[in-house]
Amino acid sequence: MRATALLLAAAFVFASEPIPWRVHDTARPRPPLVDPGTGVPPQTPGRPPADAIVLFDGKDLSAWRSSKDGSAAPWKVENGYFEVVKRSGGIETRQAFGDIQLHIEWVAPDPAAGQDQDRGNSGVFLMGRYEIQVLDAFENVTYADGHPGALYGQYPPLVNACRRPGEWQAYDIVFEAPRFDANGNLTKRARTTVVHNGVVVQHATEFTGPTAWKARPPYQAHADRLPLGLQDHDHPVRFRNVWLRELKPRL
Ligand code: MG
Repeated sequence: MRATALLLAAAFVFASEPIPWRVHDTARPRPPLVDPGTGVPPQTPGRPPADAIVLFDGKDLSAWRSSKDGSAAPWKVENGYFEVVKRSGGIETRQAFGDIQLHIEWVAPDPAAGQDQDRGNSGVFLMGRYEIQVLDAFENVTYADGHPGALYGQYPPLVNACRRPGEWQAYDIVFEAPRFDANGNLTKRARTTVVHNGVVVQHATEFTGPTAWKARPPYQAHADRLPLGLQDHDHPVRFRNVWLRELKPRL
């Protein structure tokens, strides 16, 4: 009986609650607009927490490499930020991470160019697989699960707290890596809480699997720690003040 109960419990936990919308469904309700106020991020980046791993302090991309071939990160660094170089490919951290608290600031090109997904698009790829979308959704209509702060293709943000192009924005992301057993079976989904410009846009939301375009593929077992990636989506999005804290079990 006990084994049956456990099996049933496992089935209950891991049978996915299907998302009742097709991927990138244009009929899915779009997140309501919320003006995030003026406090976050501060005009000038402050000092990160003492136990943070600083991934960009305004000077160089030495903590990063090309996602394509591991060579030096091919993006531009100037004036305390770095900028996507179109068609150079994504970048990823040299270090690998599991459970983290991540702070990252970004700004969409000003003036804005393009529309829908072709406007200020980049992405934070947790473990190189699970994307928190970066997009200029200020006065820009796009599908719900493609908004900034979306688990791209899966869950839209609760609200759209996007600032104007040219204004710095912040993501504070808490991410729990998925867990797999020795046979590679999923035992716990990846889960994330995202605060966009001081506004909660995801709260303990579980990824259905790795991020894809027009698809929701299932989980595939992977290492406990993997590099953090940033996406080249052909738009000169800028980033600054990037740091993370590794989340460890309570003492
Ligand atoms: Mg993206």
